[in-house]
Amino acid sequence: MELTNEEIRRYSRHLILPEVGLAGQKRIKAASVLCIGAGGLGSPIAMYLAAAGVGKIGIVDFDTVDYSNLQRQILHTDADVGRSKAESAKETIRGINPNVEVVIHNTRISSENALDLIRPYDIVVDGTDNFPTRYLTNDACVLFKKPNVYGSIFRFEGQASVFAPHLGGPCYRCLYPEPPPPGMVPSCAEGGVLGVLPGIIGCIQATEILKLAIGRGSSLVGRLLLFNALDMKFRELKLRRDPQCPVCGEHPTIKELIDYEMFCGIAPESQPAANPDEVTVQEMKKALDDPSLGIKVVDVREAFEYEIARVEGVPLLPMSELRSRFTELDPNTQYYLLCKVGARSHSAMEFLREQGFKYVKNVKDGINAWSDEIDRSVPRY
Ligand SMILES: [Zn+2]
Repeated sequence: MELTNEEIRRYSRHLILPEVGLAGQKRIKAASVLCIGAGGLGSPIAMYLAAAGVGKIGIVDFDTVDYSNLQRQILHTDADVGRSKAESAKETIRGINPNVEVVIHNTRISSENALDLIRPYDIVVDGTDNFPTRYLTNDACVLFKKPNVYGSIFRFEGQASVFAPHLGGPCYRCLYPEPPPPGMVPSCAEGGVLGVLPGIIGCIQATEILKLAIGRGSSLVGRLLLFNALDMKFRELKLRRDPQCPVCGEHPTIKELIDYEMFCGIAPESQPAANPDEVTVQEMKKALDDPSLGIKVVDVREAFEYEIARVEGVPLLPMSELRSRFTELDPNTQYYLLCKVGARSHSAMEFLREQGFKYVKNVKDGINAWSDEIDRSVPRY
């Protein structure tokens, strides 16, 4: 592996660092990294790794760029809205450094394709935002003995670590053996995230990758770094390997990839067939248009969200006040509950049913679906 004169000039600030030098830069050039997700975390990761001269970067993302991504996903520009994220990422990376080989995988990582996706790379970086993919990435990396550079973000807080049982550290399952019950931990789409936060956590992940590539410094193996942007504080937890861990422990029970949607309690998407607990936004519209049906629609989002977007004629009863105010509702009336994407209204439905409400249903995909399918004048947020 040699560097051209153009590369020597490009990487000169690395080459004059004794800890990197020519040998380290060659190791960076020889490295290959698979970046799972080209979103908030994937953006700074891919851009900095490209700038630093990582030889091969793989990008896995099946999604397309949405306006709501641009607040933090700096790989993509306004002109990319509607395009494949993987394609857009490739273009940005090539613009930063044409020496980088970019391989895009315009697909969702799954138990079926994960091993083929991961096998050709030295290092895997987790830039995902959901639990099934996070456990899948973890297990695949443990099985393949690849370092898994982990990061996650929510609202103003983030965390990062390097999971690598083959280097002596724990894996993600040692830290979190079980996923949270579905709906318990809101996603960034539901709970929000400060736009710059994935920039900070993603840069920490990119730093760890470069250190792994050059073999210098002390990595985050065995340590969980916690960051709070509001307090501007970093904390650190020591992580130990769990000998009982089902994937990296002494007697592993997981020896091949499993069904991660099922493991995380998420019903497979392939069956949109009538869920008796759910109604569509079209059915919600019928209920609003025809009061003789006797169906009431209640919005369970918070007041600040109601201020951003609301459906005419739908009153607000925020989820945070539901426990103290549910007696304002009539247990014999039929209610359709609305939130942003359908997760909180599902919890609200379960709560009301426990209180004896028999005819409560959840509006599938929430007010965002209303905005997409019924009334575009309602802002999508
Ligand atoms: Zn483990």
